[in-house]
Amino acid sequence: IFNFSAGPAVLPTPVLEQVRDELLDWHGRGMSIMEMSHRGKDFTGVIEEVEADLRELMGIPANYKVLFLQGGATQQFAQIPMNLLAGRSADYVLTGSWSKKAYKEAQRIGDVRVAGSTEADRFTRAPRADELQFDPRAAYAHICTNETIHGVEMFELPEPPAGVPLVADMSSHILSRPMDVSRYGLIYAGAQKNIGPAGLVIVIVREDLLGKALPTTPSVMDFATMAEHGSMLNTPPTFGIYLAGLVFKNLKAQGGLAAVEEANIAKANLLYSAIDGSGGFYVNPVEVASRSRMNVPFTLADPALDADFLAEAAARQLSGLKGHKSVGGMRASLYNAMTIAGVEALVDLMQDFAARKA
Ligand code: PLP
Repeated sequence: IFNFSAGPAVLPTPVLEQVRDELLDWHGRGMSIMEMSHRGKDFTGVIEEVEADLRELMGIPANYKVLFLQGGATQQFAQIPMNLLAGRSADYVLTGSWSKKAYKEAQRIGDVRVAGSTEADRFTRAPRADELQFDPRAAYAHICTNETIHGVEMFELPEPPAGVPLVADMSSHILSRPMDVSRYGLIYAGAQKNIGPAGLVIVIVREDLLGKALPTTPSVMDFATMAEHGSMLNTPPTFGIYLAGLVFKNLKAQGGLAAVEEANIAKANLLYSAIDGSGGFYVNPVEVASRSRMNVPFTLADPALDADFLAEAAARQLSGLKGHKSVGGMRASLYNAMTIAGVEALVDLMQDFAARKA
């Protein structure tokens, strides 16, 4: 099956095979890594290696902490203002459903404002620099660098005033290409798209942003406390961390993020060319320069054909293509683990379907 789901999403088959092989007996210990103490030598060895591999893959500078937390990216929508607002206000750039949700949740915690929004254009593009008005006193500026539902990816970063750190939700495109971590104050990503199973969220935070949490912040939600305890103030999501580590090894074996990016460009080009070359039978509404390589929403010119398209997709073992209810149509998510063969199979179906139904 080729799984185009937006998440939880496809994982690399060799990784799943390794998990299967190690499930009952991890490295000859006679039990699963899931069943081992998180404070024992085996698991602490695992988490250290997972962090080292992520640091190497992303080139994370030494003055950043890497946290392996629970609660998903949605929890971060609240946890980030709890940790960074420090009695000030924060700026949010709205580019789709996820950044809007992050903004709304942050309103529960403190003072936040919108620095710019593309909602008037139905979230079909990244904002231009001259559309953004940042507050130079903001505690941080929040962006979502890949909007999973609207299929909008930022290839140019907004530049808030000096001293205002960028905070980025990278849940749906982390590790899809090299990123310059030093341009951000904080990066966060739920694991269940490009990293591993749901239940794990990774936070990469510059050290000078730690230690400013609101006094009411619970200790498991305080980044500084979690960093002090190596993400193990309490029991971390051990199985998710272990599995993320196998994915990181797999990415390293592919040649790292530059090689991963090349493959992702090829996959995205193939699909967008099929959409654009369909004579309007399929349409992607996103401005070309902002088109996500990871999440490709598209509509059929006649929505009455949606059900037939999905039925034919299912018959060809192509799953997870139904679009998000807020935008309708289809959505193909092309995360790292999607193969070019999967995209070719989808394009075959699209062309064949259009030839018969147009
Ligand atoms: N941010 C983005 C960009 C997402 O795509 C998602 C989930 O799809 C979330 C946040 C929410 O993540 P979670 O379900 O882990 O809370």
